[in-house]
Amino acid sequence: MLFGKEPTGFIFDVKRYSIHDGPGIRTTFFFKGCPLSCWWCHNPEGISPLPAPTYHGNRCIACGRCVRECPRCARTFGPNGIILDSTKCVECRICEQICPTRAIEFVGKEMKVEELIRLAKKDLAFYDESGGGVTFSGGEPLMQAEFLIACLKALHSQEISTAVDTSGFCREEDILLAAEEADIFLFDIKLIDPKLHEYYTGVGNERILANLRSLDKKLVERGRGSINIRIPLIPGVNNSPENLEAVIACVLSLRSVSGVNILPYHSIGSGKYKNLGLEFKMGRTQPPSDDEVSQAISLFASRGIHAVKGG
Ligand code: SF4
Ligand code: SF4
Repeated sequence: MLFGKEPTGFIFDVKRYSIHDGPGIRTTFFFKGCPLSCWWCHNPEGISPLPAPTYHGNRCIACGRCVRECPRCARTFGPNGIILDSTKCVECRICEQICPTRAIEFVGKEMKVEELIRLAKKDLAFYDESGGGVTFSGGEPLMQAEFLIACLKALHSQEISTAVDTSGFCREEDILLAAEEADIFLFDIKLIDPKLHEYYTGVGNERILANLRSLDKKLVERGRGSINIRIPLIPGVNNSPENLEAVIACVLSLRSVSGVNILPYHSIGSGKYKNLGLEFKMGRTQPPSDDEVSQAISLFASRGIHAVKGG
C-alpha cells in the first residue's frame, strides 16, 4: 500500500449465486484487464484494464450525436446500428455523456476493498450452507495484484473461502502472495505448444507454466490450498490428442491438483465483440459434440485423472 492509500480495483461485473466458478454457491467479481487476447474469450469487455465503451443497439434511436461529436471520428453508422472503430477510440467518454438513451455505456467501476467485502458478505449464509465463497475472475485478477491480495487477506481474516480464476500470466511474486491467502486456484491450461499458444492468445506460455509449477510448490509447502485445472475444449484449436496428452503430462507432474474441468467452447459472448468494436476471430466454430467432450474426459480418466465437464 503506497503512503497508506487503500488500493482500489476496477470491476466490470459481479455475479451472485454463481455455481460455475468453484465449489458451492459463490459471488464472483470480474476484474478488468487481461494480458491475453484469446480468440474465444467470452468476456471481451474485461480485456481493457480501463472502463471500455459498449453499445446497446436496442436502446439506440439513431440520432447520430455520437457520430457527429466523437473527436476521433471513431463512430459511424452501419447496417445494424452504430459501429465503433476501437483503434481510433481514446476512451474520452464524450459519446457516453451525450447519448440521450444510454445506448453507449462504459463497462467497469472502481471499487474499494471494504465495498467489495460488504457486497460479498451479503451471501454469507449461502457460502456456509453450500461450501461456497468468493471467486475472483476477469479479465485476469492478478493484473490488479495489490487490490486482489488486499481483498484475499480481508476475506481470509473473516474465514470466507476464496478462489482465484487465473490465466497464470502474471508476476511470479504476485501469484505466490495470492497463494498465501487463497483456498483454490482455477488455473487455465489452453495449449502446451508455445507457438500455438502465442498464436491464439497473443502470449507464449512459458511464464504461465513456470508460474503453475511455482504455485504448486508453494501450495504443497503451505499444506493448504489446491489447484483446479480448467481446459477450454475448442475444436480445431486445442482438442487434438497431442495437446490433451501434453496437458495430462503437465497435470501428472503437479501435486496439488484437486480436479480438472473440461469447459466446452461456446460462442455465447460473440455478440459482445460487435458491441465493443472488436473482431471475433472464431468465426463459425461450433462447440464440441457430447462425444468429443466424453472422449476427452475418458482420456484423462485413463491416466487416473478425474475430469468433469463444466465447473
Ligand atoms: S469514447 Fe471513443 S467513441 Fe466515444 S467519443 Fe470518445 S473517442 Fe469517440
Ligand atoms: S448518441 Fe446514442 S442514441 Fe444517438 S446514435 Fe449514438 S448511440 Fe444511438
